[in-house]
Amino acid sequence: MKILALDIGGTAIKAGITDGTGKIFDLKEYETNAKNGGPYVMQKAIEIAKSYEDFEAIGISTTGQVDSKKGVIVYANENVPNYTGMDVKAIFENEFHVPVSVENDVNCAAIGETHYGAGRNHNDLLCITYGTGIGGAIIVNRQIYGGSKGLAGEFGHIITHPDGKLCACGQHGCYEQYASTTALVRAAKEYREDLTSGRIIFAEWQKGDEKIKEIVDNWIDEIVFGLVTLIHIFNPSALILGGGILSEPYVADGVNTRIYSKVMDSYSNFEIARAEMKNTAGLLGAAHIAYKNLNQ
Ligand SMILES: [Zn+2]
Repeated sequence: MKILALDIGGTAIKAGITDGTGKIFDLKEYETNAKNGGPYVMQKAIEIAKSYEDFEAIGISTTGQVDSKKGVIVYANENVPNYTGMDVKAIFENEFHVPVSVENDVNCAAIGETHYGAGRNHNDLLCITYGTGIGGAIIVNRQIYGGSKGLAGEFGHIITHPDGKLCACGQHGCYEQYASTTALVRAAKEYREDLTSGRIIFAEWQKGDEKIKEIVDNWIDEIVFGLVTLIHIFNPSALILGGGILSEPYVADGVNTRIYSKVMDSYSNFEIARAEMKNTAGLLGAAHIAYKNLNQ
């Protein structure tokens, strides 16, 4: 069975064909040019899809909040203007006359990791990605737990600091205002203006600036606060953490050592793993969802 997988991201649209074995064939990648808006992005994705033949279903991973039951973009921020409300499923089904599944990109990557990557030995796990914000996905019995509208897993907006920093969501003190890479950089820049990225922060620390260590240590604590909350809610057997900065051994080790001392003993049967799949997790996850929907 051939499934066309599309991964519509803010910077790139990726595409490939899968056969359900965890491999991607004929991988292609194009710039999204998202600033041109949702209708443009849809047209571009359709053109890319037309360059493939003989697929029996389409699985789409996309940026934005997705009502996965309807295949509609519920909300997309200003990075892709006029994408909110887009009926992605109907647009592609009208064009290609095959079943189409649409799911949020964080959820697709989580399904990819669960079935083909770091989560392969786990049934119940959480995927959390630290970047500009914090993305999350809940996997229960190897499937996405979506909640009533498919929107579950917005871990970035757990409130860890009531009366804290204002978040784009309108609340104060959200987890991502303290534990995202953006939050680390913001804290570092308050100390030294030249510390403008995670990479620079760690490079400068290597030169012996101990104040940077303090900033990083505080940030690791913030990461752990949120994770401890999540572990007590979901009792997962694995946490799969993503985001470039977490590949720093000091950060990974710091999260590992601090988290077990803060979790109740009865919940400590979890392991922490790094996301393994870089480019293809979203595509493979989108294809897996499409395949499963076909066989329901
Ligand atoms: Zn928020």
